[in-house]
Amino acid sequence: MGSHPGAAQEIYLNTGFHFAMTKRTPAYGARAAKAPVAPMTIERRDPGPDDVEIEILYCGICHSDMHKVNDDWGNTQFPVVPGHEIVGRVVSQSASASRFRDGDLVGVGCIVDSCRACPECRAGREMFCEKGVTFTFDSPEPGKNTRTYGGYSANMVVDERYLLRIPKGLDPARAAPLMCAGITTYSPLRQFGCKRGDRVAVVGLGGLGHMAVKLAASMGADVTVLSGSRDKEKDAARLGAKGFVATREPGALEALEGRFDLIVDTVSAAHDLNKQLTLLRNSGTMVLVGLPPATPLDAFALVHGNKRLAGSNIGGIPETQEMLDYCGKHGVVADVERIEAKQINEAYARMERGDVRYRFVIDGPSFGA
Ligand code: NAP
Ligand code: ZN
Ligand code: ZN
Repeated sequence: MGSHPGAAQEIYLNTGFHFAMTKRTPAYGARAAKAPVAPMTIERRDPGPDDVEIEILYCGICHSDMHKVNDDWGNTQFPVVPGHEIVGRVVSQSASASRFRDGDLVGVGCIVDSCRACPECRAGREMFCEKGVTFTFDSPEPGKNTRTYGGYSANMVVDERYLLRIPKGLDPARAAPLMCAGITTYSPLRQFGCKRGDRVAVVGLGGLGHMAVKLAASMGADVTVLSGSRDKEKDAARLGAKGFVATREPGALEALEGRFDLIVDTVSAAHDLNKQLTLLRNSGTMVLVGLPPATPLDAFALVHGNKRLAGSNIGGIPETQEMLDYCGKHGVVADVERIEAKQINEAYARMERGDVRYRFVIDGPSFGA
């Protein structure tokens, strides 16, 4: 990792102050690949000059948490404490932190630091920071040889620049999933100009998928859900979809050929992308946000009809705040099932089976005080 202009923490590191003041924090994490998520104690840094300490009230469970615990992407460093859909309350702040007051409701998404100076950071796309973004969990902490620990914990210390404001009127437990599932689906809808009357397909009705449906419907799109079976058909209509297709039923996809302007694919497991491309109108776009293992791509499926295949990675801090303000204005929040920390492994097992309606959210106090 390169130099870090705002790295006040390094001062503490050099003086040894940091080590004296770290705070022991109860958390839940995995000690090895596929190991159960279990209680552990982690250390949070002493707040640096721009830091805010928050008490975690809620943390959503993203499928990426499970990919990381299972080491599906081959890059997890254990122990890992997942969680990047965090809503908390400010409990203290350092001298130069000025954006928030004690008691404010704040969010932490996937990003907790970046260089702030490179073109990507300046453009508000911190996830692509040229010096290396610091993700909320399992990332090297700038200026230290420790790694970041996420929101499956009682409290957290975050630079105030990376905190989000939760608009008044949003239920905090239902707002937590907006920090990842919300921004990850809002961003591509905006990037690809989703508007009134567009025919949008959402593939996979899980955490991301249900937010994609709500957000696209709120933008006036004509939304169709593509789900494995008919189990979620009623829910899809309630979430705002006009159409529903059970993709495992014979002939289901053939009937939709050439129909959609935009397909948002949120599926977490390998599936047939080439077949899905046939559902686009000519020059339509399929955007992948799900992160399954490598899937074969047939050039003919793209070339015929000038189809476009795109990807989209979360969203930067300014766009995340924009999404939250949009959700505040339109009353968009996640459908959640609240659980205690001790139920995380059960929640993972259900998520593995696609049995999530539509985001598990862990109650902060259950991590322990
Ligand atoms: P989730 O809640 O588990 O939902 C995934 C959905 O995919 C399931 O509900 C299911 O929907 C469908 N699905 C699961 N297994 C399937 C299979 N074998 N074949 C077809 N469909 C299947 O997961 P999530 O939290 O929404 O995350 C979805 C994916 O996005 C994950 O890979 C995650 O890592 C990734 N992600 C990416 C970003 C990004 O920045 N791009 C951010 C966050 C998450 P149905 O029951 O409707 O079929
Ligand atoms: Zn996520
Ligand atoms: Zn940068």
